[in-house]
Amino acid sequence: MNNQQLWQSVLGNMEVSLSRGNFTTWFKNTAVVDRSDDAITIGVPSEFIRKWISEKFQSEILKVLKQIAPEIREIKYQVGQKAAAEPAAQTAAASKTETPEATPYREQQEARAFDGLNPRYTFETFVTGKNNELANAASVAVSNNPGTQYNPLFIYGGVGLGKTHLMHAVGHQFLRKNRGGKVLYVTSEKFTNDYVSGLQTKQMPEFKKRYRTVDMLLVDDIQFISGKETTQEEFFHTFNELRDRGKQIVLTSDRPPKDITGIEQRLISRFEWGMVADIQVPDLETRLAILNAKVAKKNVRIDDEVLSYIAENITNNIRELEGALNRLIVQEQMENKPMTLENAKGILANMLSAKKKVLSLKKISMSVAEFYNISMEDLLKQSRRKEYVKPRQVAMYLARKEMGSSFPAIGEFFGGRDHTTVMHGVEKIENIAAANEVLKQELDLILDKLYVN
Ligand code: ADP
Ligand code: MG
Repeated sequence: MNNQQLWQSVLGNMEVSLSRGNFTTWFKNTAVVDRSDDAITIGVPSEFIRKWISEKFQSEILKVLKQIAPEIREIKYQVGQKAAAEPAAQTAAASKTETPEATPYREQQEARAFDGLNPRYTFETFVTGKNNELANAASVAVSNNPGTQYNPLFIYGGVGLGKTHLMHAVGHQFLRKNRGGKVLYVTSEKFTNDYVSGLQTKQMPEFKKRYRTVDMLLVDDIQFISGKETTQEEFFHTFNELRDRGKQIVLTSDRPPKDITGIEQRLISRFEWGMVADIQVPDLETRLAILNAKVAKKNVRIDDEVLSYIAENITNNIRELEGALNRLIVQEQMENKPMTLENAKGILANMLSAKKKVLSLKKISMSVAEFYNISMEDLLKQSRRKEYVKPRQVAMYLARKEMGSSFPAIGEFFGGRDHTTVMHGVEKIENIAAANEVLKQELDLILDKLYVN
């Protein structure tokens, strides 16, 4: 029996004794990476998973191993990318938990280079309610008939209410209908940055080509071009050219066009040319529907009264709603028993009060360093070694998402790095997390530490 077969039998055994969610969480992307006379080395994707497997499942794994290969006495672990590269542990259960949406489009999506669209953000996963009815309908209309009816489509609303999700859904839907079409998704900060570096490196023709030859341009959080005059000038021309050629433009912002200060009037009025649609805070039923949809997708069971409790208590930000649900799921998987309402209340109470805790770059970095088991010094200093780069990028990502820190401020904290390095790191983590459950879970666990403990 080779290593792979050996590990498969262990996994088969673990699979029947654990819930599917639990099994996937801990054993996805694990593999046997080495075997000597009396020891076996298991490759696991993260330190956290190593700890968990060795504390909770070690004896059970050893028991199974001994039945097949009695000479094995010791289990060693190797933390790192290698395990992920040899995914022997893609058992039936592990792959079943992936979205069953195995359409050719999805395959095509996965096959091609990342175009900035999060594969999870589709219309299918977007729950509609009174709060987002108009924005959703306009988005569907635009993706089916781009460049005609509503151009630009301008979606605005508070943080965490689904603007980015909806915008990506438009891109996906358009690409499904127009194979080979070109969609470009950027944040307005990325646009600014590309423009500035185009100027500096004298590559304006490339910049123009990149932005003006697309079929659909999605610019997220357009309010951030406020105060940047030359960027606005460039965006004005990009906008005009695309629109003149019947190409669709979608913009999002945290407020309606007329309330964005520091933007030229001629841009504001263009933003209002097409359709301006708002997203409001979801009502209780919509919040519950969102939670139910997420639970169904994740293939876990959470009690109805627990879900109601979350929906009643987290009212104005869907990202937080999701975050609360994720923490409860992680907790449930760790304890390996259903979450009671009492437990949930305790965890959420901590979470809600923790929101008021003042985060700092230092606190975030400390949690990240602790989680990945590296020193603060290694996290902050210049080393480019892989085992430090990823945690550093994770810390940058969390600083951005949780504190809204500016790229330069984060760069400053991390040993005076350039803001473009930070932006690249944040983007990278965002992209990987969009497709990789393990990283997503690591982020949740770090947040858990940050807020709950
Ligand atoms: P925004 O861009 O408005 O800050 P996002 O689009 O990033 O918000 O949404 C935050 C999170 O909430 C995302 O994970 C998104 O999938 C989820 N979300 C938002 N609205 C909905 C919805 N109507 N249905 C399902 N998930 C939603
Ligand atoms: Mg957004």
